[in-house]
Amino acid sequence: MSVVVYTEFEEGKFKKTALEVASYAKGIANQMGTSVIAITFNADDTAVLGNYGVDKVLNLKEEQLNTFVASAFAKAIAEAAQAEQAKVVVLSSSANSNYLAPLLAVHLKAGYASNVVALPTSTDPFTVKRTAFTNKAFNHTVISTDTKIIGLSKNAYGLKEHEGAATEEAFSVSLGEDDFGVKVENVDKATDKVTIADAEIVVSAGRGLKGPENWEMVEEMADILGAATACSKPVSDLGWRPHSEHVGQTGKPVAANLYIAIGISGAIQHLAGINASKTKVVINNDPEAPFFKAADYGIVGDAFEIVPELNEKLKAFKASNS
Ligand SMILES: Cc1cc2nc3c(=O)[nH]c(=O)nc-3n(C[C@H](O)[C@H](O)[C@H](O)COP(=O)(O)OP(=O)(O)OC[C@H]3O[C@@H](n4cnc5c(N)ncnc54)[C@H](O)[C@@H]3O)c2cc1C
Repeated sequence: MSVVVYTEFEEGKFKKTALEVASYAKGIANQMGTSVIAITFNADDTAVLGNYGVDKVLNLKEEQLNTFVASAFAKAIAEAAQAEQAKVVVLSSSANSNYLAPLLAVHLKAGYASNVVALPTSTDPFTVKRTAFTNKAFNHTVISTDTKIIGLSKNAYGLKEHEGAATEEAFSVSLGEDDFGVKVENVDKATDKVTIADAEIVVSAGRGLKGPENWEMVEEMADILGAATACSKPVSDLGWRPHSEHVGQTGKPVAANLYIAIGISGAIQHLAGINASKTKVVINNDPEAPFFKAADYGIVGDAFEIVPELNEKLKAFKASNS
C-alpha cells in the first residue's frame, strides 16, 4: 500500500505544484500509516523531493515523455501506481494534470475528485473537501472506489518541509505507438516572464486603462512584485493584450496568493476565474464597482494616479528591505 504522487518537472526543475502535491501526499500517508512514492519523467535531480515527504522516486527515463502526451503519461503513471499498490494517487490541478486525471481514473478504475483543498477529513470512508460552483462553495465528497485519485487545487495546501531523503529507482513501462495518438513536435514558449498559472502574485487590468499604451505602469508593478500580468476578456478581445493573459470563466483560472485588479469592473464571468485567489486588491474609480464586494482591500480612485504612486512606494519599500 502507498500514496503515489505525480510530480511535474519542467526545464530542469520540479514545479512548485510538484512540491505542493508531495507535501499533501505526505499528509495523507501519515493519516494512513504508509509511504509516499513520487513518479517523475526524465528528472535530472530528484533529491529535493525528499524534503517534502517523498520516500521513494520512480524516475522514468523515456525520451518520448519529454513533452506532455496525456495518454502515454496516464498509462505510465497507472503502471507505476499498480506496481506500488497505490491506494491514493495525487496530482496537481494544472492544465496537464486535469487532462491526465480522468484517463488515469479509467486505467485504475478509480474515483477522481478534482479541486480538493484540504487533507481528507476521514480516510474511511475517504472524504475530501472540494470547491464547487467556481469556488463559491465547498462540498464534501466520499470516494468509494478501492483506488482514489485526488486533484489538488493550487496554493490550497502549501509547502510543508520534512527532514528526509528519497531513494531513487529507475522505472520502465511498456509504451507503444498507440499510446502516442497526439505527438508534440516542439514547444515554443511565448514569454520568459512569470506565467499566470504558476504565479504567486498576479497584476491584472481591465478596460478602465483606456488603451494598450497605458500598460507600462501595470508591467512596472508586475516587475517590482515579481508578478504575472493578466487582463479582463474585453482587453484581450480588443487586442490590447495577448489572449494568454485573459482570466475568467472563459479564460485562465488564477489561484494566486495576491490578485491586484486595476480598472476591472468585477463581472461574474471575471470573478469566476479569480475566486480561488487568496487576497484580492481592487483599484477602481467607481465606488459601486461590483469588484469591491469580492475584494479584501479596495482603493477608490483614478488608476492613472494611484498605480504610479503605488509603484514608487513599492520600489522604495523593496529598496529599504533588500
Ligand atoms: C459568456 C461570457 C463569458 C465571459 N467571460 C469572461 C472572462 O472569462 N473574463 C472576463 O474578464 N470577462 C468575461 N466576460 C465579460 C464580462 O461580462 C465583462 O464584460 C468584463 O469582465 C468587463 O471587463 P472590464 O471590467 O475590463 O471592463 P468594463 O466593464 O468596461 O469595466 C471597466 C472598469 O474600469 C473602471 N474604470 C474606468 N476608468 C478607470 C480609471 N481611470 N481608474 C480606475 N478604474 C477605472 C470602471 O469603473 C469599470 O468598473 C464574459 C462575458 C460573457 C457573456
